[in-house]
Amino acid sequence: MTVWADSPRNLPEYMFSLAGIVLKAKVAYGRGMKDILLVEDDKNVGESLVDGLIQAGYAVNWHIIGGKALKAFRENRPALVVLDLGLPDMDGFQILETFQQEDAQVPVMILSARSEVDSRVQGLENGAVDYLVKPFAFPELLARIRLRLRGALSADADLSLGTLHADCLRRELRLHGDLLEVPPREYDFLVCLLRAKGQAVSREQIARDVWKSPQRMSSLDNLIDVYVSRLRERLQGEGAPVLRTLRGVGYRLEEKR
Ligand code: CA
Repeated sequence: MTVWADSPRNLPEYMFSLAGIVLKAKVAYGRGMKDILLVEDDKNVGESLVDGLIQAGYAVNWHIIGGKALKAFRENRPALVVLDLGLPDMDGFQILETFQQEDAQVPVMILSARSEVDSRVQGLENGAVDYLVKPFAFPELLARIRLRLRGALSADADLSLGTLHADCLRRELRLHGDLLEVPPREYDFLVCLLRAKGQAVSREQIARDVWKSPQRMSSLDNLIDVYVSRLRERLQGEGAPVLRTLRGVGYRLEEKR
């Protein structure tokens, strides 16, 4: 996977900066990360998004021309699309419609200067999972992307089991109503279990979702055990869910009976 943009023909310095992006994107790809298709014609916004997303560990395929973005979508299904609406050759809503027809499973986040309620409603009603108005705060965009990609099967921003509650947009946990402050990895682990809604979660899935490891590694097994005991210590008290070991299968977070 490389990052590239189309039609930079009149802008030599643009080509130059893109060369740096290609280099970094290859590094990101080597770690087996998720692909984001970015459709954005503003050079500054595009460059800063590519930089930020690569630093966050994603591989980015950046397109300026809508038609080329459609082609890229067909050739290489991205994990998520970040879509600007005002593009040189076509309107973003047209692109959204085509993406939806071709594969409605790919989440599309609109990022646009159009702040009118009508435009936002149109975007969401036509299948976009999110709509961010420019100017935007990159950390918020990143949090929303992470949320969408982590919960590819569930768009729930709020997860609960017993007295444990996760607010995924704020990355905040509560137990018995009190804020439960945990390190990021423990948070990811708990949210991974919560998303399963009482179903078993395999060690492979935990390795993938929590440690971003494309395959199960024995070195991670011990670490997973350590985290499980830490989480069990935290999940104390009436109504707290129980973290159960399913021998040979994985783990399950369930309500105490
Ligand atoms: Ca634009």
